[in-house]
Amino acid sequence: MNNTLINDMLAVGDDELNHYYLELKKQVESSGYHFNPDVEFTKSLLKSIILNDKRYGYRSCPCRLAVNDKNEDLDIICPCDYRDPDLDGYGTCYCGLYVSGEILRGEKKLKPIPERRPSPEDREKLKTKSISGIISSSIPIWRCRVCGYLCARQEPPENCPICTAERERFELFD
Ligand code: SF4
Repeated sequence: MNNTLINDMLAVGDDELNHYYLELKKQVESSGYHFNPDVEFTKSLLKSIILNDKRYGYRSCPCRLAVNDKNEDLDIICPCDYRDPDLDGYGTCYCGLYVSGEILRGEKKLKPIPERRPSPEDREKLKTKSISGIISSSIPIWRCRVCGYLCARQEPPENCPICTAERERFELFD
């Protein structure tokens, strides 16, 4: 395949990008999350995600190196496994595509965010852990008292992704 053809296949048109942005923004907001309010910045990240989809066949994180193997990169398909704990701890995901409500409302300032993704060696070790080991770990399970949605994470989400009830409406589920 010649280079021009490859470049054409990897191009992301304005219409494609705007459509993706608007569709995803609707979904993101209806599930209680927030995109970075800097629209140009947000679109530049979404453009990289679309490009990654064209390159690899999956929408891998725009600020991490994918290895072109979906199974190896499952944890960094956007939204990645690390988004929620990073939103809880730092008010933003690693790339800055998602921000918390507190950041959006100016109640908190952004601070440097370390990479939470384990090294390839540590990811390999984690794979060998059994499912039962994960289930019996100390991660608490939270229940939305409004709609019954359950999630296992250190803190409840800012808003329920199903009914958008606020964090205060979650309770620990035994
Ligand atoms: S860090 Fe942000 S942009 Fe990157 S995959 Fe996670 S949620 Fe998506």
